[in-house]
Amino acid sequence: MDLEKDDAHAARRYLSGVGDQPAQATARRRLQSVLEAGGEHTLRTLSQQTSLSERDVAEHLVHLERSLTHRGLALVIEPARCRECGFRFERRSRATRPSRCPRCRSERIDPARFALRGKEG
Ligand SMILES: [Zn+2]
Repeated sequence: MDLEKDDAHAARRYLSGVGDQPAQATARRRLQSVLEAGGEHTLRTLSQQTSLSERDVAEHLVHLERSLTHRGLALVIEPARCRECGFRFERRSRATRPSRCPRCRSERIDPARFALRGKEG
């Protein structure tokens, strides 16, 4: 059947590693489905559930945020926060996990949390 032939062809193309686009797309879809399942996530939980590094998750989130906006969804980001003085790391926190508060030097940092919301919700 033609379908079988196409599948084999696609698999061969995938395995030959023509660019890293298919793998990137798959990773992003996996990340998206975890978020679509609902709830709040941190880079760590997303990393665990997608088998991506936290750095990769952060990178994908940036792109995902853009494509979600086109679909009427929004990635809500609760920034990392210092437990001692309440300092908020704002949007910088998406890319890296801050290790120390710039204001009080505490290392007790709550990580940023991510959730998927409809625009009206
Ligand atoms: Zn602090």
